[in-house]
Amino acid sequence: MLILGAGIAGVSLAYHLAVRRGVRNILLLDERPPLTLTSDKSTEAYRNWWPGPDGAMIALMNRSIDLLEELAEESAERFHLNRRGYLFVTGRAERLARWRATAERASRMGAGALRLHESASGEYRPAPAEGWRGQPDGADLITDRALLRRHYPSLSERAVAALHVRRAGWLSAQQLGMYLLERARAAGVEFHRGRVTRLAHSRNRVRAVHLEDGSRIPVERLVLAPGPFLRPLAAQLGVDLPVVTERHCKVAFEDHLGVIPRDVPLLIWSDSQKLDWTPEERAFLEEAEDTRPLNGLLPSGVHTRPEGGADSRSAVALWEYHTPVEEPVFPLPQDDLYPEVTLRGLEAILPAMRTYREYLPRPAVDGGYYVKTPENRPLVGPLPVEGAYLLGALSGYGIMASQGAADLLAAHLTGESLPPYAPAFHPRRYEDPAYRRKLASWRDDWQL
Ligand SMILES: Cc1cc2nc3c(=O)[nH]c(=O)nc-3n(C[C@H](O)[C@H](O)[C@H](O)COP(=O)(O)OP(=O)(O)OC[C@H]3O[C@@H](n4cnc5c(N)ncnc54)[C@H](O)[C@@H]3O)c2cc1C
Repeated sequence: MLILGAGIAGVSLAYHLAVRRGVRNILLLDERPPLTLTSDKSTEAYRNWWPGPDGAMIALMNRSIDLLEELAEESAERFHLNRRGYLFVTGRAERLARWRATAERASRMGAGALRLHESASGEYRPAPAEGWRGQPDGADLITDRALLRRHYPSLSERAVAALHVRRAGWLSAQQLGMYLLERARAAGVEFHRGRVTRLAHSRNRVRAVHLEDGSRIPVERLVLAPGPFLRPLAAQLGVDLPVVTERHCKVAFEDHLGVIPRDVPLLIWSDSQKLDWTPEERAFLEEAEDTRPLNGLLPSGVHTRPEGGADSRSAVALWEYHTPVEEPVFPLPQDDLYPEVTLRGLEAILPAMRTYREYLPRPAVDGGYYVKTPENRPLVGPLPVEGAYLLGALSGYGIMASQGAADLLAAHLTGESLPPYAPAFHPRRYEDPAYRRKLASWRDDWQL
């Protein structure tokens, strides 16, 4: 079997097949060193909080997080899984009824209990900075401002409520990937460096992959896990996948003034906002077509978290205010204003970020592409071409979903019985007209 792509998806699949199921003769193929295209650029955060039209995403993520916890245990905490949660914060009281209804629905669909904290005496238990055991799941909805301020004194005065999602946190994706790769290689998986230029198929069966160096590897089974290059590679097998690639950036910076407390959850400002540029800045932004929108209303979702241990000062921040759909280009096109805009956006949630207006502390921007289906759900399972399988379209959640998705594809490949959520991620689901009609009405407003 050949797995094309050694990002977190391909590496996880190699592990789940070779280590957990004893499958032999696996070749992992990549033109780059493993885990170096998209999988080392993420925010490394995870959550089971996926409100949606049904509970399929929650079920997949719960399975994935179960596996992450098993791996944390078996690797002696090698990838520093924490359970700090995500803290969604709003300044708009009128949103609370809808938040609560959504949270109740997510809870019913398997995300865990919802706890309401409407008075300062509420029994709210903040998350520990390290470790993941013995923590609640579900979410805490804090609508008492005094309680919110007591636990999160650095939040903006504008914050009226917060939703603390609890089966969530972050980890070191690089350490996770390296652990899985080492275990897979020890179980016999071979890694080969090479760029695939052509996939050969005939009589509706996959036959071989051709490499840039002119070599040809015959294959009986081929798994496509090529991250942003999923669509063109599937097209070579005659399959037109409904996926787009969307550019997303991230900024890392030294929080040398200690504005972001070191023990907080992932902090998200959940309201749209306008930035208060000076008149000169406003005039400058107005001059060019691509910067003009920065003077207008910008979307919700700017978020940040501390990075590293207690003595580190690093932090990462993201804001999806400009996510062009484009063919993937590497190195990633630069957005020179990204650090400044994103750090300004964070002032909504952490007003002390304002002190960085004068001097931006050594920002470093990177990022990659979200590969997205119309309903923002992954593609995991067999293609109509015999012997060909997909493990992709992992969008902005490929680290957190990696174990559940790889485990699901491993079940397809070994003929095990499939979990109930398998059809929701099957690549052929779009062939059903009823499904296509249904997904036209889906909304996804919790994706970061
Ligand atoms: C800014 C940003 C923030 C994110 N934050 C999070 C987060 O907080 N939590 C989370 O869970 N996810 C997050 N993600 C998403 C996550 O990083 C991705 O979903 C995940 O890394 C995708 O993994 P992959 O293995 O599918 O793809 P990749 O990591 O891109 O790996 C694909 C591999 O295939 C190889 N390949 C492709 N074509 C060929 C070819 N023709 N020949 C040979 N090799 C080939 C590439 O070289 C590459 O190594 C984020 C992503 C971005 C960009």
